[in-house]
Amino acid sequence: MKNHAALKPILAGLAVFALVLCIAGAVSGVTHRQTIESERAQFAARADSLAAQISRELEVTVATIQAGASAVRLSGDTNGDVLRDRLYAFLEDGDLLSSSPAIRNVGLVMNGAFGAESPDAPRFPLVGIYPDTNSRLIGADLSFSPERMAAIDYAIETGQAGVGRRITLLSGIPGVFFAQPIYAPGEVPTEIDTRRRQTVGLIVAVLATDSFMINALSDIDLRGIDFEVHDLGSEASDAPVLGTETLLASSRLDKMDYKELSPDARLIAVAPSALQRDVTIGGHVWRILLVPKTGAASQHGGYVALIIGCVGFFLAALSGFASYQKFSQAVLLKSRVDERTHDLQTAYSQIAKQANEDSLTGLGNRRSLTIAIQSMIEGQSHRAGKSIAAVHIDLDRFKQINDTMGHAGGDFILRHVADIIRRSFPNETFCARVGGDEFTAALVIEDRNVADLEAAAARLVDACSQPVTFDGRPCRFGASVGIATQSLASVEPKELLVNADLALYRAKEDGRGRIQLFSPEIQAEVVAHKERADDILRAIDAGDEFVPFFQPQICCITGNLYGVEALARWVHPKLGILPPSEFIPIAEDLDVVAKIDRLVLESAIYVMNRAEGEGHFVAHLSTNLSFSRLMEGDFTSSISNLPKCNCAISFEILESIFLDDEQGPAMWNIDSIRDAGMEVQIDDFGSGRASVVALTRVAPSRMKIDRELVAPIAEYEERRRLVQSIVEIGKVLEIGVTAEGVETPAQAQLLRDMGCDVLQGYLFAPPLSEAELMAYLRRGQFATPAFG
Ligand code: C2E
Ligand code: CA
Ligand code: CA
Repeated sequence: MKNHAALKPILAGLAVFALVLCIAGAVSGVTHRQTIESERAQFAARADSLAAQISRELEVTVATIQAGASAVRLSGDTNGDVLRDRLYAFLEDGDLLSSSPAIRNVGLVMNGAFGAESPDAPRFPLVGIYPDTNSRLIGADLSFSPERMAAIDYAIETGQAGVGRRITLLSGIPGVFFAQPIYAPGEVPTEIDTRRRQTVGLIVAVLATDSFMINALSDIDLRGIDFEVHDLGSEASDAPVLGTETLLASSRLDKMDYKELSPDARLIAVAPSALQRDVTIGGHVWRILLVPKTGAASQHGGYVALIIGCVGFFLAALSGFASYQKFSQAVLLKSRVDERTHDLQTAYSQIAKQANEDSLTGLGNRRSLTIAIQSMIEGQSHRAGKSIAAVHIDLDRFKQINDTMGHAGGDFILRHVADIIRRSFPNETFCARVGGDEFTAALVIEDRNVADLEAAAARLVDACSQPVTFDGRPCRFGASVGIATQSLASVEPKELLVNADLALYRAKEDGRGRIQLFSPEIQAEVVAHKERADDILRAIDAGDEFVPFFQPQICCITGNLYGVEALARWVHPKLGILPPSEFIPIAEDLDVVAKIDRLVLESAIYVMNRAEGEGHFVAHLSTNLSFSRLMEGDFTSSISNLPKCNCAISFEILESIFLDDEQGPAMWNIDSIRDAGMEVQIDDFGSGRASVVALTRVAPSRMKIDRELVAPIAEYEERRRLVQSIVEIGKVLEIGVTAEGVETPAQAQLLRDMGCDVLQGYLFAPPLSEAELMAYLRRGQFATPAFG
């Protein structure tokens, strides 16, 4: 009995041990299966992602080619040269090839059967290729290439992008040929033969499939996966013959290998465990085959669990716990894989979007704007009475905000403006940021509703003029708007945008915060402006067309010649002598006033020296200094090696310059004028608001009272008092005072009595040419008989 009783715990122990063994074995088996299943699930999910990404990237590529075809078709032309130029312009505008690097070439093929009686004997000459690295192909007839013809036929018959069979590119890597038809303007015919005759030509493109895949999959984790992509042709069969001639890309080959592809390279095709996914594109089925890289799968999980089970209950429990964890991990993994697939898909659509989106504001960009306008045109079935409007918006004072608030502030303002623009126009409007601080909104409007559009633009300008707070500081900026519209029946998208730009240019010229509607007059003005600009540049090169005229300045006390002011004149070969108002503003825009100022000052000095040589010494020579030149960094060097002369040279600087915020460089340059032994005068004093501020800051040797202030002094007592007080200020600050625009003896008398020391104006002499000045100096009669 005793022995029997002693066996009990052993038996119990054995039973427990056997039980534990069974449990552990079962648990580890489950674990092993689950591991394999979850790996399989994960692998399948990655295959799906891969296929989704490839097909999305293909869509983007096809969309690019389609956009090219619509752009070309919109010209309404059927002439190969015109279409080709249009295509090139379209590609360059959007910089499309650099955003789709796998597209090697885009070309234009014409259709020999276009407009012909019968669709027989088609010829498809290649008339353009971009970039033109393969220009020797121009003129080649593609109807001799079956791979290409397959794509062309498919494209013409379906109206969709057609894809050809695999070709080998010159570099030895695989590629495919795309074709997208361009139909004649008007309805697209449904009947195939008519369609053949109505197809003007095709946009064709060659895609390097190998680099396409590399780009398409660059964001995907491909560790542990090998893949191959094959072209199955137009009809996929279940047991296709896959070989070198169908291979579009392989993860196992680098670019070099495609050239000497050995038969065993297509390992994946024969691997029984390969997963497959098909993508259909342009009438072709592309099959993606995927296998785990050898040795990548885990096979040890089960054994490990088994050993753990044998060690004992505690460890078995642990293993049970681990298996529980694995199990929940498998569930988790599945949901993670789903999540990741979703993430990837979002990422892909983002990639596609990015090419068309401004990431800062979420608006479109320049590329998508053109495409949007094209689809607006194509999307309208009833065109009568409708127009497309382009509203071009440019911010005023944005640069200052960027400079003072930093880029974060600038970005904040741009997003704020993007919101305003979205709110200002109807929902269907396409809004894009087309440059740093430039935006364009494009929309279809009823012709009679232009006034509504202007009202919307006015609200936009108003909203932009409201200060916003950034970082606790108020930012003030504004917006100017140019609007152009074109009837839907005859839109030229590029011209439409240019017109809106011209209108904007004009709005800016008229001052800030304006809205300008494009008109043919504006166009004429802008064209004239452009021609004038070219002419100015030519004249600067010619070197002798900008000359100084000299207006004498008379000393009130002695009645003698005090000095002369050099004023620029353009001796135009066709138009005669032109005043500064005809060229200085445009030269400012061109940033070449400095060059003109320099030409004028140098030749003025030579004139002074010639006069001195003749015995007529002029004591003071003053010249006008443009704002842009005063702001120049290398201004000092430009005044340092002027020709020598004995007269005192001074620069007249507009008082209005000192109204602007950015004075740093201007003040340094003013100092360097004095350092170089020359003087500074303040011109048009009293025309701005900063008078006294300017005087104390600049400490000029002389100020010139604006002629607008001088004109009314004989008639109006209070105007006289105003000038009187200016003269007083000059006296207090010990600054000489010149009065400009003196036209009558009465004015001259009053100014002298007030204490002005120098007078200048038509009363004494108009600006004189060199010859006239010489005659004037020889005559030696400076003050008028009525004066002095
Ligand atoms: P500003 O410096 O105020 O020049 C005086 C202008 O008044 C000159 O016009 C002159 O012809 C005109 N004027 C002179 N006396 C009388 C008068 O009694 N009555 C009236 N009504 N006008 C008189 P101009 O030569 O057409 O020059 C216009 C402006 O162009 C100048 O105004 C100056 O700001 C600018 N400018 C002229 N030459 C140059 C130059 O070489 N460089 C730069 N940057 N600007 C120049
Ligand atoms: Ca002046
Ligand atoms: Ca002046």
